[in-house]
Amino acid sequence: MIPVNTPLLNGNEKKYLNECIDTGWISSEGPFIKRFEEEMASYVGRKFGVAVSNGSAALDIAVRALGIKEGDEVIMPTFTIISPAQSVVYAGGKPILVDADAQTWCMDVNQIEAKITPKTRAIIVVHIYGFPTDMDLVIALANKYKLHIIEDAAEMHGQTYKGRQCGSFGHISIFSFYPNKHITTGEGGMIMTDDETLAEKCKYYRNLCFKPERRFVHEELGWNYRMTNLQAAVGVAQLEKIDTHILRKREIGALYNLYLQNVSGIELMPVNTSFAENIYWVYAVVSKNKTAIQLMKLLGEKGIGTRPFFYPMHLQPVFQKKGWFISEHYPVAERIAEYGFYLPSGLGITDEEIMEVSDALKSIL
Ligand SMILES: *Cc1c(COP(=O)(O)O)cnc(C)c1O
Repeated sequence: MIPVNTPLLNGNEKKYLNECIDTGWISSEGPFIKRFEEEMASYVGRKFGVAVSNGSAALDIAVRALGIKEGDEVIMPTFTIISPAQSVVYAGGKPILVDADAQTWCMDVNQIEAKITPKTRAIIVVHIYGFPTDMDLVIALANKYKLHIIEDAAEMHGQTYKGRQCGSFGHISIFSFYPNKHITTGEGGMIMTDDETLAEKCKYYRNLCFKPERRFVHEELGWNYRMTNLQAAVGVAQLEKIDTHILRKREIGALYNLYLQNVSGIELMPVNTSFAENIYWVYAVVSKNKTAIQLMKLLGEKGIGTRPFFYPMHLQPVFQKKGWFISEHYPVAERIAEYGFYLPSGLGITDEEIMEVSDALKSIL
């Protein structure tokens, strides 16, 4: 069996974890938290990092810290994981959806302006699979209409847009450190911002809205979304290796491109756009004839793990039950959701396994 993801933990992870155990610092109070926050912020080029329990939690806090509330509208891609949409809905807001770009599968930024209304408060960009969202127009629109940008860079550690780090574009940007991301803490996430007041607010929401003046007296409700020192210890070790991880991801992508280049029946991701080089968070393909479900089943029978693409927000039963998006159609998102899936492409995969997976796919096609 070749699993869809195998993490790579071959640096100082054990050493730093042992330090936590030897010193007894295992909760969210502990020196690795601050170190991971500072080192990650410096890597991305932000002033502040706030470590949290996962990427979805980071989005909950981002939406709340930016004051999104009942009746507000937030523009976002329909083709995304549910996390950003869920955060907006929990805050009482409504996601306003935009189709995917056919080349990058990120939000088609040319469709944003038509969706802006007096109720719009923010744009959530989600960088998808290999490429960042085309940011220039997003930034221009945010300035023109006085909107916040929340940047979901959960899949983009180390990726750049026109040479600038992803995670540096949002009023608040977030990362996830789930085991299939470029660096992992098992579960984990981080909020990034340059605004000290916002950073303090995020820490406040992360920690049950405790106030330093009088503990256990609360003005507002928050969450316990704290990261542990154990997770941060793994994060510090992983961050030391991020450059090798990114190189390896691009090598995995290049190997698959080589093996699959002349295979008919599938569409591969582009290697470059005008603004970025593919970082291959996952190695994704879009089938031309058979559906993703059919191909994934056949690959599964050959012992190869795969995952389907995200399922568009406008088709989600949970939102349709609210009467939302019923008559909305987003043709690009609908097509890639039905025909797209990704192959094993975690950092722990070997070159031989990449060849085996490619051969299996070729023989099926
Ligand atoms: C992984 C991911 C998340 C969620 O992160 P978790 O840490 O799993 O909660 C959010 N957005 C995107 C785009 C992701 O890929």
